[in-house]
Amino acid sequence: MNKLLNLIIMTECINSNGEENFIVLDGGLGTELTRAGFKIDDDPLWSTRTLIENSEAVKAVHKSFLESGADIVITGTYQLSLKTLCQHCDFDENKALDVIYSSVKIAQEACLEVKSNNSEYKRRLLVAGSVGPYGACQHDWSEYSGNYVDNMTIKQLMDWHRPRVKALLEAGVDILALETIPAQKEAEALIQLLKEFPTAKAWLCFSCKDERHTCHGELFSEVVTKIVCQSAQIVAVGVNCSPPQFVKFLLQSIQGKVDLPLIVYPNGFDDGKFVWDDDEHQVLSGHVMEWIAAGARWIGGCCGTQPKDIAKIRKIVESNG
Ligand SMILES: [Zn+2]
Repeated sequence: MNKLLNLIIMTECINSNGEENFIVLDGGLGTELTRAGFKIDDDPLWSTRTLIENSEAVKAVHKSFLESGADIVITGTYQLSLKTLCQHCDFDENKALDVIYSSVKIAQEACLEVKSNNSEYKRRLLVAGSVGPYGACQHDWSEYSGNYVDNMTIKQLMDWHRPRVKALLEAGVDILALETIPAQKEAEALIQLLKEFPTAKAWLCFSCKDERHTCHGELFSEVVTKIVCQSAQIVAVGVNCSPPQFVKFLLQSIQGKVDLPLIVYPNGFDDGKFVWDDDEHQVLSGHVMEWIAAGARWIGGCCGTQPKDIAKIRKIVESNG
């Protein structure tokens, strides 16, 4: 399937009335589970623990983001690897795979329930399968340096990513969210892996350490133009899980150079501190107009962002639609 066809399908999927240019993503699943009282931050399984023990709570978070205006919910599989599940839950591989299948089912149910509760709903709601980086599953913050790629081959990275990608696609996600990717090498591995699933579509978002570089240090603009844009299966490219103040510059560095929608869902932190977005501190919402000016069309939030942040983003993009 060629890139243009992929793009048309995505655009038509979501903007069924053909009027909107924007897609709104959800916010921080882990943030919302923590706010609901689940102790996930020191757990090697992170939000996957809640997925296993209290899936209704995960569904409630998905629904709260959809009801706030998100078009897409991202599954709770960011930090989920078969190995960690087998290690920390004493699961065999089949039972571990069932957790991935159920994460997709829960997100699909959330979409259906939100639509059936509101017959006025025009937008099509989609499920994106979260594919976090290898480092996220090591539970040592290495996803924010990406240094592990120096000691791994492309093949090793592909082998590690394959089971989750395969299971998410088998479970019927609409798109894969290749997210918080810190390094060019891991992006290359994922793009190569996608070829094994020729009908799969994905977005690819990098985590970045400043206004120009991925966390691992490559020039963001070079990785995007030379690597990511070569794949016909990538339907949007951008930045997530990074400080909001870097995003404008990162987008400007690729604006006009790529024929893909630009996607942003940064963290809701202000200079590394947790400051909730409110009337006084517009941590995320205060930047949305500059992101739009820099070409962003798919916009949401990552760590530290709540449904109220997504509602603000929806309002801003609607007034620009
Ligand atoms: Zn994040």
